[in-house]
Amino acid sequence: MRTDRIVWHEDVVNTQHGDSVTFLIFTRDMAQRFGTGPLPALDRVRSTVAAFINHGRWLAQCPSCPSSAYVSLDVPLFWCVECGQVDNPGYWYEVVLPAARAAIESVLLKRPLVRNVASHRNWVPEETLQMLRNENLRQGIEV
Ligand SMILES: [Zn+2]
Repeated sequence: MRTDRIVWHEDVVNTQHGDSVTFLIFTRDMAQRFGTGPLPALDRVRSTVAAFINHGRWLAQCPSCPSSAYVSLDVPLFWCVECGQVDNPGYWYEVVLPAARAAIESVLLKRPLVRNVASHRNWVPEETLQMLRNENLRQGIEV
């Protein structure tokens, strides 16, 4: 997995399946496999889920079950392939990204890898940019 950036769905799926497998094709196929399809039309969006960063990955968590998935930068929508999002059936969730996304990524990318894993690159919406900078400073990492 790439560690020179905070990775998105496209970084992972394009690496594994090639550019022709878009977020929608990948999600459709996964939902079919799990029996949670077909996917709603793209204009059927209701409610939101907040994106977060876990081990250098942009993820969103299903509000209805423990499943999470990579966030797509191309199509910032969420469909839980595992449960079909039982609390929002027939609709996508809109994925909410932070306004300070680039700055958050920049601070986290200064944190070193641990055995080639970005295990210290984490962020949740409750954390401010200043909190992330302070964590870096406490660890002797530039901000
Ligand atoms: Zn779910």
